[in-house]
This record gives sequence, structure tokens and C-alpha cells, in this order.
Amino acid sequence: MGRASLRRAPLNSRVARRSSAMSHLLPTYARADLAFERGEGAWLVSTTGERYLDCHCGVAVNALGHAHPVLVEALKAQAEKVWHVSNLFRVPDAERLAARLCEASFADLVFFCNSGAEAMEGAIKVARKYHAANGAPERVRIVTFEGAFHGRTLATLAAGGQKKYMEGFGPPVEGFDQVPYGDLDAVKAAIGPQTAAILVEAVQGEGGVRVGTPQFLRGLREICDQNGLLLVFDEVQTGMGRTGPLFAHQRVGVTPDVMGVAKALGGGFPVGAVLCTAEAGKGMTVGTHGSTFGGNPLAVAAGNAVLDVMLAPGFLEAAQHKALLLKQRLAAVVDRHPTIVREVRGEGLLLGLACVVPNNELITALREEKLLAVAAGDNVVRILPPLIIEETEIAEAVDRIDRAATRLERAAGAAQGVAPKLEGLKG
Ligand SMILES: *Cc1c(COP(=O)(O)O)cnc(C)c1O
Repeated sequence: MGRASLRRAPLNSRVARRSSAMSHLLPTYARADLAFERGEGAWLVSTTGERYLDCHCGVAVNALGHAHPVLVEALKAQAEKVWHVSNLFRVPDAERLAARLCEASFADLVFFCNSGAEAMEGAIKVARKYHAANGAPERVRIVTFEGAFHGRTLATLAAGGQKKYMEGFGPPVEGFDQVPYGDLDAVKAAIGPQTAAILVEAVQGEGGVRVGTPQFLRGLREICDQNGLLLVFDEVQTGMGRTGPLFAHQRVGVTPDVMGVAKALGGGFPVGAVLCTAEAGKGMTVGTHGSTFGGNPLAVAAGNAVLDVMLAPGFLEAAQHKALLLKQRLAAVVDRHPTIVREVRGEGLLLGLACVVPNNELITALREEKLLAVAAGDNVVRILPPLIIEETEIAEAVDRIDRAATRLERAAGAAQGVAPKLEGLKG
């Protein structure tokens, strides 16, 4: 449809208005025909007034659910003071958020940006610049892993190495060597005189909730130490309590040199961060990196509010307790529906159901049961509830997942011609 015909569309017609709105967004997403008006805790209310249990969380972003009073208050208060200044001035609350993130992690220094891809792009720059500052500017190559996801900028796409995302976008950014996830021998073989760093997710989220074993992650640390490489963790999805501890690497006691964080850092307000040790960050002097919006007063108000909630005594422990409950109950779902799902995997509240049926069929059935979940690679459905989910809501989520699986079993039965019998039993 051309521009002129869109302009002539009768805008008072609901359908015309919707299709017109859709057609002006670059169609890079396969969107569900579903929109939400508001949220409260673990629930989202659609524009048609239906309540959905949110185990999607905007892809692991809304870790504190929707409309959390602490976050709402912090943003409102900041909105009335000042939204944005510039990083050419001091931003006291950014200094405070950075100090708190360092206090809670291995890091000494923080750079704020606006997204996960930017955080990983920044992490890559930190790693390369470190070696340049050490007099080895040829050390630019980074070992990454098959199934990884680090973002959609040109460099982070090359780091992730997924061909389907890179096609048609010209020559891939140079300097990434991909090896199978979990394969320490392949990592060793990929290291050469130009290697600068190893970049890894403690749990591959987009790649299908594939959990890195402690031996694998510790092995990477050793290899880095033996070869003078930086160990870079992408904690964009795993960070901020999603897998249990504040950061996933803390679960296995492996300390990175550089880490990217984003998704849940602002609880839904766009903010990302690169964290690093003073040593790893030593090349990042005045003028080497920047971001107009990065860590502006609104973003860091959100970030500080998220930390106020997450670092309160007992908060992460309570989330971990609920995560174990959910994982156990999902294992029972797998036992009850072996023709639909075959495995539950993951850590904390980054859980995945490995599917027998195509994962999108389960996502659709879940949506029909008013539960939102996210697809991942490896034919997995991610179950990502907010960390504030209540035990009663976990029970509700499991019921809905059970019902969705039953719905798919019935549909498969119908396809084989046994539907009338099932329908009869049901009636
Ligand atoms: C989502 C994600 C990114 C990219 O974050 P954006 O905010 O979409 O740019 C990078 N790495 C991981 C592990 C992610 O899950």
C-alpha cells in the first residue's frame, strides 16, 4: 500500500487505524495482535480488558513486575526535578548507582549506556583498548560461542555470529572467533597472538536457556589468566537477580574483568552499563567512549530504585526460593506432558521448557490461557516471571502451562481423528 492510499484510509475506522499504525513501523518484528494498557505486579491488562500472567517480562526486563511503587515514586520524583543534562557535567545519582553496582560486584568502574547491545559494544571496546594501552594493539580478537546473543549492532552481531541476523548487512565486523559453547579445548585452540578476550554468557538466554557448567566457566577464567586475556561476561539477561544471585557468575564463583548489564537494570526504563575492574578499564581515558543519553538522571533514578528493592535483605533469597518451587513444578509438567515438552532447564527465574512440539505452538497455547512467555533458540519456551511473583501466582502459572499443554495434546488428538471421543469425555 502506498503512502497516498494510507493517507486516504478512513481513520475513524478501528481496523484502518490499526493497520495504518502497524504499517508505519518498520516491520522487523513478528508482533502478536495484542496490546496492553497497564500492568500491576506480575499481571498485564490488555486493551480489551483481559488479564495476562506475565512470564515474559518484556524479555527479562520487568524484574520487579509492573508499576512497582518504589520505581514509580522514584521516576515521578526525578521527572519533576530534571530529566537530562549531559555527561559533560557530573551526574551525582549516576555516581551513586555506579558505586552501588561496584560495591555489589567485582567491578571498580562503570560506564552507563542505554541498551544491552550498547553495553556489549562498550565491553568489546574496553577489552580491545586494554591491550592497546598495554602496548599490544594487535590483540583485538575475541573468542565467542555458538548460540550466543550479544545484540543487534554490527559488532555485537558479529560477536553472536548468527548467520541469519547478519545476512545482507555487508561485511561482518572482523575479530570474532566462534567455538562451541562448553568446549574448553575448542577455546584453547582458538586462541592466538591476536586474542584479546573471551566473551561468554553464564546462561545462554536467546540461545535456548543453555546453562554454562561451573567447570566450563571456571575453565575460561583459567585460560584467560594463562594467556593474559580479559574474561568478559554478557550478563545483559542473566544479571540483576534473574538467575538467583545479583549476577550469574557469582553462582559459580568466577570473576570476570568486564561485564555488560542492561535489561532489568532499570526495571523497564532503558539503561545499560559496562562494568570493569580498574585494570581492565585502564585504556578508557577521556574521549575514548561516550553516549548522549547514557546514565541520564531519569535512567539512574530507575536504576537506583531497582537496587533499593533488590538489595534489601532477603529479596534475592525469596526470589530464589520461588524459583526452585517453579522449577520443581515445571518438572512435574514435563512428566505429565511428554509429547509436548521434554525438559525444564535454567537457573533461578531464567527457566526454559525444551519443547517436543514447535515452541511457537506452545507460546500461542499459553497466550490462549492468558500467560505470556518468550521463545528462544533450541526450540525452547522461556518462562521469565518477575522476581516479585507470589507463590499463589506461581501455582496459577503452572496451572495455565498445564492447561496449554493439554490443549495441544487435544489438538494433536483431533488431528489423528480421536477428537470426538475427547470432546465427548470433556462434555
Ligand atoms: C537482550 C540481550 C542483549 C541485547 O540487548 P538489547 O537491549 O536488545 O540491545 C545482549 N545480550 C544478551 C545476553 C541479551 O539477552
